[in-house]
Amino acid sequence: MIRTGIGSDTHRLEAGVPMWCAGLHFPDEPRGLAGHSDGDVAAHAACDALLSAAGLGDMGSNFGTDRPEWSGASGVAFLTETARLVREAGHQIGNVAIQVIGNRPRLAARRAEAERLLSDVVGAPVTLSATTTDGLGFTGRGEGVAAIASALVYAPDPL
Ligand code: MG
Repeated sequence: MIRTGIGSDTHRLEAGVPMWCAGLHFPDEPRGLAGHSDGDVAAHAACDALLSAAGLGDMGSNFGTDRPEWSGASGVAFLTETARLVREAGHQIGNVAIQVIGNRPRLAARRAEAERLLSDVVGAPVTLSATTTDGLGFTGRGEGVAAIASALVYAPDPL
């Protein structure tokens, strides 16, 4: 049985914070994504999409304040554990598609690198795209970056 899931995430852009997005570090970015973790919106949206597809809740219910050991974890660490949880529940992962919405970082030049990395982490194809919002909204004003993701899993049994 095929099941799909959705996820989204948003983090604030802050000066002096390293920029991590889609599992990659962007050392030339003057601002990064702030949060209790590395703020990697792409990885976090992918986690929520996978958990959604598998019916396993979301990042908050799996890695929330009751699990302080996950405070400050990287997006790749969250995604690694998420894929493990999804498989542990009996699902196979079909694919994950992520779209990042914002002006920075510029992902186009490193898209293939990010897709390779995230696909290795998930153990299934992960695709990455990016878009801007024509200067509108918080992403257009450069206040933050958002991401949405979808995932497909093959569930063990119909519910
Ligand atoms: Mg997040």
